[in-house]
Amino acid sequence: MSIESFRTEARQWLAENCPEEIRVGSRDRLSRAQFDDWVRTLGTRGWAAPGWPTEYGGGGLDREHQAVLSQEMRAIKAVPPGGFGLTMLGPTLLELGTDEQKQRHLPPICRHELIWCQGYSEPGAGSDLAGLQTRAIEDGDEYVVTGQKIWTTGAPHADWIFCLVRTDPDAPKHEGITFLLFPMRQEGVQVSPIRLIDGSEHFAQVFFDGARASKSDVVGPVNGGWTVAKRLLQHERGVSNPEARAAGTAKRKGLVDLAREQLGEREGRLADPALRDRIAQHELDAQAFGLTMRRAAEEARADQSERQIAAMSKFYWSELGKREQEIAIQLLGSRGLGWSGEGFEESELARTRRWLITRADSIWGGTSEIQRNIIAKRVLMIPE
Ligand SMILES: Cc1cc2nc3c(=O)[nH]c(=O)nc-3n(C[C@H](O)[C@H](O)[C@H](O)COP(=O)(O)OP(=O)(O)OC[C@H]3O[C@@H](n4cnc5c(N)ncnc54)[C@H](O)[C@@H]3O)c2cc1C
Repeated sequence: MSIESFRTEARQWLAENCPEEIRVGSRDRLSRAQFDDWVRTLGTRGWAAPGWPTEYGGGGLDREHQAVLSQEMRAIKAVPPGGFGLTMLGPTLLELGTDEQKQRHLPPICRHELIWCQGYSEPGAGSDLAGLQTRAIEDGDEYVVTGQKIWTTGAPHADWIFCLVRTDPDAPKHEGITFLLFPMRQEGVQVSPIRLIDGSEHFAQVFFDGARASKSDVVGPVNGGWTVAKRLLQHERGVSNPEARAAGTAKRKGLVDLAREQLGEREGRLADPALRDRIAQHELDAQAFGLTMRRAAEEARADQSERQIAAMSKFYWSELGKREQEIAIQLLGSRGLGWSGEGFEESELARTRRWLITRADSIWGGTSEIQRNIIAKRVLMIPE
């Protein structure tokens, strides 16, 4: 279909199927139920995963048509689809899964029928992920899993987990790890939510005591899971991460608008020259990052170079986001420090939370220090 016909079709479909409350630009403005319904709606058209093959429930669109769909969605501020299945496990399975695994796991991801969570971190293995201790022991056609994960986002609502387990405790630590998929709702899996300061319970500790996984759900070679784990992290950190792309575009306008709001009807400019300078510098950095991401996406089409860009992208957008929100709080002054109760606008309370959330962005998926290490070793090739 020609690009222009497709644009008309996409626009019309979105007009008919994207409810008003979904046109808010960002997932954090939606309830979980609203988000899930919306991704399921996109899934009926194959557009939850527009670039995946149609045989697995995707849209089968080439890059140009995908770009048009994104543009049309952005134009009405439709919240983009997301989740661990769509953004991390799916792309990894497409590349490294068996045909049978793709047939079985990808369609429910596209239809948003099954929610996935990520079982990487353990109490003694975060940055040093390869030090993980959760054990999986063979038992006929299955593995029996025992151990503990922590900081597992979405675990209280997840149906399945992609999990790193140790299958050979005697091998060097990177060589005894296997990448395993298994259901969360079974005896032998206990989810213990971690309550955050705002009362929410997105994270959990997950305890495995005899949990069962089918051998057909090992992704990649047994004891060769470290390579699969790293590839998935590249999807989490890299250009395929929508937040990385958004950092250079959507968020960029926020500060100038906010500064204008603070000035109100008054003419002129912000009195504080240091603050003006910070905003200008942020604008320049965000623009440069947005352009770098666009270039990286183009290069990735040609030669998979996103592998190189992943650490840089994760490091830069999370640090950029922190700086942006710090400036925003500086602009708002005491109005940016509300947590609850009367005396603050909803938008001000949301701003405080967004500022604090940016602190977490430079931790999940590997901290900024770890990204710096990767950039030094693997990209700049600096000797240890
Ligand atoms: C919002 C959020 C969501 C998360 N979701 C998930 C999830 O769904 N699944 C999952 O498995 N995990 C998840 N995590 C966990 C996350 O991956 C870990 O928190 C992260 O990898 C850091 O590990 P750690 O907390 O054990 O810190 P540590 O590894 O103990 O690090 C502590 C500090 O030491 C620094 N440090 C450690 N090693 C080095 C080094 N070699 N060089 C320099 N500095 C170093 C770190 O940068 C950090 O500042 C999530 C975390 C957050 C914040």
